[in-house]
Amino acid sequence: MTGPLPVTLPPLPGELLSSWISRHANFYGVTPLTMLRHGLPEATSLGAIDLSLTKAQADRIAAMFGVSPKAVRGLSFASAPKAAHRFIAKTPMQHCARCAPTSAGPLPVLRSELQGWRITCPLCGESFQGKTARDCSQVHAPYRAAAWRGETLLDNHAERGVETWFPALEIARLLLMRRIPWPPPRDGDLWRYRLLGAIVPDFDAILAKETTFPFSPKHPILPLHIRPALLAGVAIIDRAGPAMLNMLQGHMMGDNKNRFAMATDHLISPVLEWGPPRQMQLI
Ligand SMILES: [Zn+2]
Repeated sequence: MTGPLPVTLPPLPGELLSSWISRHANFYGVTPLTMLRHGLPEATSLGAIDLSLTKAQADRIAAMFGVSPKAVRGLSFASAPKAAHRFIAKTPMQHCARCAPTSAGPLPVLRSELQGWRITCPLCGESFQGKTARDCSQVHAPYRAAAWRGETLLDNHAERGVETWFPALEIARLLLMRRIPWPPPRDGDLWRYRLLGAIVPDFDAILAKETTFPFSPKHPILPLHIRPALLAGVAIIDRAGPAMLNMLQGHMMGDNKNRFAMATDHLISPVLEWGPPRQMQLI
């Protein structure tokens, strides 16, 4: 094991592990991968370390920077459940106008800038801004409170492994599956109809204005101006209970329906204890 570095820089609040290592690389005038290999000679990629950091690697990086292994793990997504991985972007896709770091040299990256389930900054609570002016997370009534609740549910699952009666991250992804609208639409644009629209009708209206929608359970990180609808859908299901998942099955057919049933049947089975969905209080 290599000894600790002579000079270390403190991590910024909420900073990502690879960003912290990159700032040291800049300080020492080496490439980020060279910096990482100083502690982990076998490393092949800096980006991978944020998601796949092992306990042994955390120990060695901690020794190199003279901090605790727990602190190193806290900068990474190593503790995130597998269900969170598709919601973690590879590059920053949002920032907080109040907390975004400014500095000479490479711009630091905060963990929250990659978190595809968030609409507000975890440090100050401000709404996130996306890459374009249109893409911001200002949430309109009537489902503002539900969206914030959904954000908390997903964040508790991703960051602390906490589930309610359902795994919020998995349900959020399933809500992007196609549904069969009834009556069938005249224009035949079936991609515009997702399960989420059966819970949050505004979502159908949002997709009616989009020319494409390249999002699905495999690619669930929505643009910020659409994301609140997905978060609200998760919160509404949480309140309503398993009967609502049962209702959603009724909006599907064929293989899609089978896939959805396989993912949710174990959550629906205690449905008798829950009764019918309760009336939602959205505001
Ligand atoms: Zn902030």
